[in-house]
Amino acid sequence: MAGEEGLEPPNGGTKIRCLTTWLLPIIISIVPDVITDTLQKSSIDSLDSELLLAHVLKKDRAWLLAHSETPLSDSQKKEFDALIQRRINHEPVAYITGEKEFYGRSFTVNKHVLIPRPSTEGLIDLALQYFQKPQEEMIDVDSEIVVFSKVFKEESPQIIVDIGTGSGCIAITLALELSEYSFIATDISEEALDVANKNAARYNVADRIQFLQRNLLDPLQNLDHPFLVISNPPYIPNADILMQDVAQHEPKKALFAGPDGMDVLSTLFLQAQSHPYCVGCILESREEQAKKLIKQS
Ligand code: GLN
Repeated sequence: MAGEEGLEPPNGGTKIRCLTTWLLPIIISIVPDVITDTLQKSSIDSLDSELLLAHVLKKDRAWLLAHSETPLSDSQKKEFDALIQRRINHEPVAYITGEKEFYGRSFTVNKHVLIPRPSTEGLIDLALQYFQKPQEEMIDVDSEIVVFSKVFKEESPQIIVDIGTGSGCIAITLALELSEYSFIATDISEEALDVANKNAARYNVADRIQFLQRNLLDPLQNLDHPFLVISNPPYIPNADILMQDVAQHEPKKALFAGPDGMDVLSTLFLQAQSHPYCVGCILESREEQAKKLIKQS
């Protein structure tokens, strides 16, 4: 999987947590006392405050490290303070900065799209593996979360279909990794498709991805070329209690899917399996949901 940050802490370790404790005193040396106080009293993660400060300064975190004595201007202090307040109110850093790293590339995000997750990078890895040799696999990507592949037909796909594209992170990443395929990406949200289109233009793949504002495989009824479905659909049971950052800020439609979280997964799997040209699918879900789908197929 792609790593999120490129910096190495001085002791040679690679964990971000280790890096942030090491970098925090440097940040504190360039922000005014009043903000330092707020930071220390709040529960804000030091990595988050570094990302916010880097955003205010329009630099990356490596620059912060090399310029630890740079004083903030009054307007920078004000802006940083405002961003810290938003974070204290549980707004995710990615929505504040408008950017999230996925598979080594930065994607534009806003409150209309799910923030790309590291677990979904596993979906990309599995898809790349599938294109070398189609086979059925299930891989743990997070606690109780898996990515899995199901082969319906021993035929090579010509088109890759990303269902519920959100920010477009899956279709765009695969378009960049697999230059010989064309893509269709669907989403029911117009606002999400705006974000996905922007990201596709940002990475010069807009001409290879057809974005459609439709539900699941509905627009593909007449597709008569072999295609592979890939999706990170909503799969959280309605009654699950999520951390405030997620529950209060991320789009509910991108997260929840009925009493057992299977509403979208079941329909999607069934539609894919019964389509004469769908050769297989690669999905992310909870482990027990994946097992249920595979058993029923
Ligand atoms: N495909 C997007 C992602 O994985 C959005 C997923 C969703 O909205 N459930 O980030």
